[in-house]
This record gives sequence, C-alpha cells and structure tokens, in this order.
Amino acid sequence: MKDSVASEADVPVAAAADISRAQAHPEQEFGADPLEVRDSDHYTDEYVTGFVEKWDELIDWKKRYESEGKFFVDLLKSRGVKSVLDVATGTGFHSVRLVEDGFDTVSVDGSAEMLAKAFENGLNYGGHILQVVHADWRWLNRDVHGEFDAVVCLGNSFTHLFSERDRRKALAEFYAVLKHDGVLILDQRNYDAILDNGFSSKHTYYYCGEEVTAEPEYVDEGLARFRYQFPDKSQYHLNMFPLRKDYVRRLLREVGFQRVETFGDFQETFGADDPDFLIHVAEKS
Ligand code: SAM
Repeated sequence: MKDSVASEADVPVAAAADISRAQAHPEQEFGADPLEVRDSDHYTDEYVTGFVEKWDELIDWKKRYESEGKFFVDLLKSRGVKSVLDVATGTGFHSVRLVEDGFDTVSVDGSAEMLAKAFENGLNYGGHILQVVHADWRWLNRDVHGEFDAVVCLGNSFTHLFSERDRRKALAEFYAVLKHDGVLILDQRNYDAILDNGFSSKHTYYYCGEEVTAEPEYVDEGLARFRYQFPDKSQYHLNMFPLRKDYVRRLLREVGFQRVETFGDFQETFGADDPDFLIHVAEKS
C-alpha cells in the first residue's frame, strides 16, 4: 500500500494495514547463495518482524539519545529548519526525537514492518502520532507531496541501494522534495576503513555492552554482508553496498547539491580510519 503525505486522521488506517503486512514476513530469505543478493529491492525482505522487534528491544533508545547528543537537532536548528522529512524512519528513533524537539516531521520508509513499529513507538514514547508514509526513495515524489527544509537519511540506510542508477534516482528525489535552500543529512558506515585495511579492520561493533554484535561476514567492493547476533543466539543478516566516502560526496554534488560537508562520528575533523560513521551534510544552495 502506498500513502501520500497524510492528514493525521489517515495515519492509524495506514499503520493498521502495515501491521497486517508485517505479519506476513516472518523469516529472512537470501536464497541459495546469499553473496549473490545485491539488489536494491531486497531490503523489505531483510527487515523481518523478528529482527526489527529484537533490535528495538535491545538497543536502548535512551543510550542512543546520549551517544548522539544534540548533534542533528543542533545542526537543523542552526539552519533554521522547521520541517523535516525522515526518509529512513526505521523504528522511528529519529522521527520521535525530531517531533519531540518541535520539528514538523513526516516519516517515510519503504518497509511496512519498520513503519508499523515506528508508529507503535511514536505512541509509546510520548504519545506522538507520527505522520507515516510508505514509500520507496526512488519514487518518493509520487507519494510525498510538499517541500521540506530538511531531509534526513540516517542509520546507515543509503547503503541499501546497490546500483548507481538507484542512488542517483534516490538523491534526485531527495533533492526535489527540498525547498530551494534545503539541506540533506545522510550518514553511512565508514566502509573505506573496512575495505582498505583488510580483515583486521572489520571489527565487531558492540551494542548494549556485548549483547548485540554486528560484524562484517563478507566484504568486497560490491557487497558488505553483516551478521547481527542477539543474546538468545538468533542471528540475522543485512546485505549492503559498501559506500566509499568520496564517491558519496561526488554523487551528492553531481545531483546538484552545492556544498557537502562530511563529519566523522559527529566531529568535524577525524583520521581516515577512525570514525565508524560518516555524516554528510549537503546544502542545496
Ligand atoms: N534510520 C533508522 C535508524 O537509524 O534506526 C533506520 C535505519 S535502517 C538501517 C534502514 C532503513 O531504510 C530501513 O527501515 C529500510 O526499510 C529503509 N530503506 C532501505 N532502502 C529503502 C528504499 N529504497 N526506500 C525506502 N526506504 C528504504
């Protein structure tokens, strides 16, 4: 089901339909050769209910708030941003935060599972009714009407696109929903470090102490396959495209963004291998 930017009255209906869809995808499915799965459409099969529920249960939102601090909120406020389109809502962490900080926020995701969970989280964390829109980035403007001061694409989400054509299309769609002086904030894992420094650099990322681990199980220039393990020994995978920093910066400029600034783990200066995450801030004018 696709929904255009909705009035608040439409939202519960959208969420209810999404919840029933969510129940239809119980298992991850990568086929006979998981390393061959390099497909921009596959993300909806990867975020199955079990994975989404488990992740959200264990990754403490409070701790995430603390580690991120006010980085994004300050960045947006310093630019006078009032309206934000969160294009990678996931389970709603950033959307809820933005709503709480007074931003007029619309929450988009291409995964029905994720949107259902985000909607539920919005209600549970402060009784917020998120404005959710089920849309794929590549056809964003078909489903989202209106212009925003900012688009945020956070939590290493852009990595789900496997072809350059899809990346360009998605960025062009983000560009188009922005006002003339709008800003796009897009983050990614530091894949350069993982690709360039061999297996030793492919360290395990620990969340919640050692309860949840994420580690690259396989990496080449076209695929980073990560394994996520939980305390009950269950494991899930995500197949992602390992985006190089300068490549993303170039694409951002080529689709029309005038100025691109890149931060490492929320800092302006950083060594090439140090940060786990890179944050690109791209300005339209
Ligand atoms: N931003 C959230 C966070 O930080 O917790 C979620 C991040 S999650 C890694 C990536 C999200 O991007 C998923 O919810 C997925 O469904 C969404 N996504 C991936 N490819 C997409 C696409 N082509 N169109 C719309 N959403 C997409």
